[in-house]
Amino acid sequence: RGGRSASSVAPFWPTELDASISDGSILGAKSGSLGSLGSGSRPLGLRAGHVALGGELAEFAGRQPTALRLTEILAMKTQEGLRSILQEELPVRLANRIAHLDNLPDLEAVRDIRSVRQDFAAAFEEVRTATPENFAGVIRRFKKRNEDHALRLTQGMKAWGELQRGKGQPEETRAFIDSFLDRLFLSRIGMETLTSQYLALSTCPDGIVDLSCDPCQVCASAAKQVSDVASEYLVTVPKIEISFHGDQSARTLPLIPHYLFYIVAELLKNSLRAVGELHESGSGNLEPVQIRVASDESQVALLIMDRGGGIPFERQPHVWSYMYSTARGNRMCKQTGQILDEGDEQPSPFFGYGVGLPLSRLYAEYLGGSLHLMSMPNFGTHAYLFLQQSSDRAEALPNYVNWLR
Ligand code: ADP
Ligand code: MG
Repeated sequence: RGGRSASSVAPFWPTELDASISDGSILGAKSGSLGSLGSGSRPLGLRAGHVALGGELAEFAGRQPTALRLTEILAMKTQEGLRSILQEELPVRLANRIAHLDNLPDLEAVRDIRSVRQDFAAAFEEVRTATPENFAGVIRRFKKRNEDHALRLTQGMKAWGELQRGKGQPEETRAFIDSFLDRLFLSRIGMETLTSQYLALSTCPDGIVDLSCDPCQVCASAAKQVSDVASEYLVTVPKIEISFHGDQSARTLPLIPHYLFYIVAELLKNSLRAVGELHESGSGNLEPVQIRVASDESQVALLIMDRGGGIPFERQPHVWSYMYSTARGNRMCKQTGQILDEGDEQPSPFFGYGVGLPLSRLYAEYLGGSLHLMSMPNFGTHAYLFLQQSSDRAEALPNYVNWLR
């Protein structure tokens, strides 16, 4: 990472907020990525580990998580009210995740995944036995331990994919890993939301929700931070232009600004990199990246447009994979989108983990929104983000039913 400051890493790796949601109706009815998370996505040829869980853990793993409405969460104006919900709900979600991990074949062989499982089991124990007096401390420890889970899980699943070489079709393995991680991360986002809300209630009555969030302001601060980071990686950083379309009276709406920030920052990093690298290669102008924001009282729509040369059609399906990145030095297998050789370039806060797009889409879907990419090869990319105002929509939770059970 040669001398590049690590101080800017934090906002770009989602560590702050974590949870899981179970509303099958939302998940089942959709044609988007989560629609495919239900039964049937397990590739043939992969056998479940079928580890038997003991006692309390097994009992909680058998329960369905309850998808909470953000209005319900917001109605809790005190930590004590939310604590009673959390102490019921967190163990269910943790036990579900443990069961999910335990069913992964060859789990024992992958250290990163095993260590995450140990963290979940420890957290389950602590939350179950917490008292009202020490609950806040338990939650803070839980979040601290979770901090690098996203990284460990993606690295672990990469290593797991290596172990599966030769055991099945590479495309099937990749699809399995992606749907496995989608579930884990969706669950993570849910727990992150509930626990962050709980901690934030000690200082602010609305917690992590901003009841009058201005999406343009969030975009402006994301643009500023991403441009700063980009200047360490690109010779010239393209400009970012933001414009708002619509009624000034509908400019603000209730949102969790942190999530909007995360998504916009990831999209901007991709756009700046595309335009910057195209320019460096001498085949494009340094066209500005444009953000168009339009909102009314129920939703906000964002369009992020770049002229960074787009994504070749054959690669477009792969961009949603956790295992796919074209960060400098990477070579990709054309059929499967798998990275063959990682080159010298290490992943950085700017690019290379390959998780920016799939995680951003999960955040949007968790909140009942969506993220779409429209890319024209040799021209540029348009990313459309739709977010519902954060209120009467229930969380979207992973649907574990019929999956490896
Ligand atoms: P990462 O940025 O770490 O590579 P992402 O999930 O953010 O991971 O993006 C995956 C890949 O999709 C990128 O490596 C790049 O090849 C492609 N991509 C995403 N956005 C754009 C864009 N705006 N223009 C061109 N390629 C893009
Ligand atoms: Mg990216």
